Amino acid sequence: MPDQTPTQEALLDALRAVADPAGRRDIVSAGLVEGVVFRDGLAEAALLTDRAHAEAMEPVCTAAEAALAAVPGVQRARVVLTAHHDAPPGPPSPGLGHKPAAKPLLLANAGAVIAVASGKGGVGKSTVAVNLAIALSQTGQRVGLLDADVYGPSLPTLLGLNRRPEMRDDRIQTLSAWGLHTMSIGYMVDAGTPLIWRGPMVMGALEQMMGEVAWPDLDVLVIDMPPGTGDAQLTIAQRVALAGAVIVSTPQDIALDDARRGIAMFQHTNVPVLGLIENMSYFICPHCGERAEIFGHGGARTEAERLGIDFLGEIPLQAEIRAASDAGTPVAVDNPCLLYTSPSPRDMRRS
Ligand code: ADP
Repeated sequence: MPDQTPTQEALLDALRAVADPAGRRDIVSAGLVEGVVFRDGLAEAALLTDRAHAEAMEPVCTAAEAALAAVPGVQRARVVLTAHHDAPPGPPSPGLGHKPAAKPLLLANAGAVIAVASGKGGVGKSTVAVNLAIALSQTGQRVGLLDADVYGPSLPTLLGLNRRPEMRDDRIQTLSAWGLHTMSIGYMVDAGTPLIWRGPMVMGALEQMMGEVAWPDLDVLVIDMPPGTGDAQLTIAQRVALAGAVIVSTPQDIALDDARRGIAMFQHTNVPVLGLIENMSYFICPHCGERAEIFGHGGARTEAERLGIDFLGEIPLQAEIRAASDAGTPVAVDNPCLLYTSPSPRDMRRS
């Protein structure tokens, strides 16, 4: 079979067919292409811009993705906007995309941004996001946690925070809890106040929390995504160079149907799906020790196998997890073994 790996020149040639927003030159001659790489069928490019021109660059990104996708050998294409102006356009960065070495426009100072998502609400997405973030910070990394679930912000409760963030130099400051730098729309409103959003307001709130909050330099930022696959989720998937997405589901078919849609959305936007977690997987009665599979069991593992994605493990339904969340002390802080069942970290090390 002939080698279908496109050359750098072929990818750049394709990008030369895309006009820069001013319309007089192509994006390569205009110096807007910061890097282009090809790996495993995926062509990725980074385009330089600044915040003021980001909106005008959106159609340019779409055109550049189409141009790259048309190059023989390219199966998928992805173009991100980068916000540096100091570095001149240089050779492609090898880590572009999966580990965003080229900084994305939004959340640029996080080394890796991981989305925790679910197809529907109430499956334990926020619980997983919070405990995952804490577990990562316990490994010595600088970790942030963004509550993008603007319809039902739960970080104030889950982290036990009830103070308002400060403004400094016109920027909203993050709140610290359990070693994490955090932000939630729930910090700005009184508990119990219903949040009623119209479409554009959701985007505005998300853009503000991603772009106007004084996020410190972070190794990892975990995003607790809004449930579902609407515009808000798509905006995040497109405006942030996500390193990957973790999908949380309960075992029942109805939750898995929605999880499948979430997985498809990430795949369409070329965000790697890191794996599927089955939450509320089973219940062990603390009195008699009998096991009950309240929402069924094993559906997520089967689905992961069917879709060819990693199954990351089962979390049991435990009263302590719910109580710890409600008390604002996530179980990862002082009782992390409640989260580890199968495969346990020890099993995973063995395999
Ligand atoms: P989502 O973010 O998907 O809407 P949450 O994380 O807010 O879901 O969880 C919904 C409710 O279920 C919360 O009260 C939470 O404490 C509880 N919960 C989540 N996972 C578990 C679990 N494994 N065991 C017991 N309660 C859980």
